[in-house]
Amino acid sequence: MKFFSTRDHSRIVTASQAIAQGLSDEGGLFVPESFPQVDVKALCGLDYPALAAAVVREYLTDYDPAFLTEATRSTYGAAFGDKAGYLAPVEEDTYALELWHGPTCAFKDYALQLMPKLLVEAKKNLSRTEKTLILVATSGDTGKAALDGYHDIPGVEIAVFYPTGGTSEIQRLQMATQEGANVAVYAVRGNFDDAQTGVKKVFGDKVIAAKLAERNIRLSSANSINWGRLVPQIVYYFAAYAQLLKAGSVAFGNEVDFCVPTGNFGDILAGYYAKRMGLPVGKLVCASNENNVLTDFLTTGTYTAKREFFKTTSPSMDILVSSNLERLLYHVTGSDAEVAGLMKSLAETGSYTVRPETLSAIQESFSCGWSSEEEVAGEIRARYEQDGYLCDTHTAVAFHVAAQKKREGVPMVVLSTASPFKFPRSVLEALGRTAPENDFEAMQQLEAATAHTAPASLAALRQKPERFSTVIEPAQIAEVALGYQE
Ligand SMILES: *Cc1c(COP(=O)(O)O)cnc(C)c1O
Repeated sequence: MKFFSTRDHSRIVTASQAIAQGLSDEGGLFVPESFPQVDVKALCGLDYPALAAAVVREYLTDYDPAFLTEATRSTYGAAFGDKAGYLAPVEEDTYALELWHGPTCAFKDYALQLMPKLLVEAKKNLSRTEKTLILVATSGDTGKAALDGYHDIPGVEIAVFYPTGGTSEIQRLQMATQEGANVAVYAVRGNFDDAQTGVKKVFGDKVIAAKLAERNIRLSSANSINWGRLVPQIVYYFAAYAQLLKAGSVAFGNEVDFCVPTGNFGDILAGYYAKRMGLPVGKLVCASNENNVLTDFLTTGTYTAKREFFKTTSPSMDILVSSNLERLLYHVTGSDAEVAGLMKSLAETGSYTVRPETLSAIQESFSCGWSSEEEVAGEIRARYEQDGYLCDTHTAVAFHVAAQKKREGVPMVVLSTASPFKFPRSVLEALGRTAPENDFEAMQQLEAATAHTAPASLAALRQKPERFSTVIEPAQIAEVALGYQE
């Protein structure tokens, strides 16, 4: 399987190159040249690690299959509490795909526990010996998941940038207390898009790349623009379908809809790949919070990032530029020139409009909706009181939209992307309690109120010393990158 850039077909790379490099040199994203067709029924019989190996192998064709088998087996077992891809029934034929049983309690662990192994192997495949400097812009969950995945990985340094005040206190502490000799964490003044734009600028800066190359350092990305982030996420769509099949909740070949709380469009795009690989996915429902730029785009065909930015109780979805949408635009138009033009328009004017044919092709697979802050809180309470199901703010955004888009007779799987204990104040308030200022006290009160237990890794944060407290301007991200030595 070859990969090429969404903005320039002639830039062709292997999977190892795509993963080691992250972004194509001219700013495009790497996409596979085709969608491998799989035997869905056979895949549905596998356990999670074997399923992961089978799916990932279809794309990472220059990797040793034995390595992939071993890597997925060592990743998706005990570290996920043996609940990788666990599907929980919620009400009638609506389900929650609980993706937060990993070490940092958010779905990003699926990709970021595996990706460090894929990167080390990619360098081996390419006979490369340089140091890899990973820069990550995060609205909260990616940062911690990347730090946890990459800490003390040989030949790798990682620096994480999160927006000041843009994360929950728990999320901030998860990052500020990260252990490891090769990690660094910075708060960046501004919102997530400021941090992401700052990091993207460094990736696009040839002078910085040249200076680092002199020191045998190469930049790479752990953001969901890296193919290595996307490919492990395809797996759990198959896992969800397999469980429905096993429980007799769907007949083989019948469609299942998925509703995905969306920010950067990575998680939901993985569902699109699953569909194109042959999984009977009906609609992929894109759920947004008040930053509903994707709802507008999927409804009108015009993407406008120039709009008011809202800080919500689902901070990991507070995003105005959804980077992975570029991959979908490529797959739907099949034209690198067209995608390059749209992205140029986005960079220069803050918006673009796709052709009507493009919009209708997208709408064949995707529907959309959004939830206000009030609706999110109401949804958390309703799911808890009516179904006994406790969910976090991001998942609640999706539950609310899923209820509107539910089709009679078609099972609906809501991707549950974070543990409710990661956002204990918001969840407690949604349940009608007055939340204490302190996140840890809120966590304890949430435990008492619901008889659920907070994940041990979150409760333990209270005792851990904070290692990182530096605050920088977005423009200083370049200086940070240039501060690394061989
Ligand atoms: C990252 C994240 C999302 C959004 O996922 P994208 O792939 O960026 O669309 C949703 N919920 C949680 C909890 C997240 O951490």
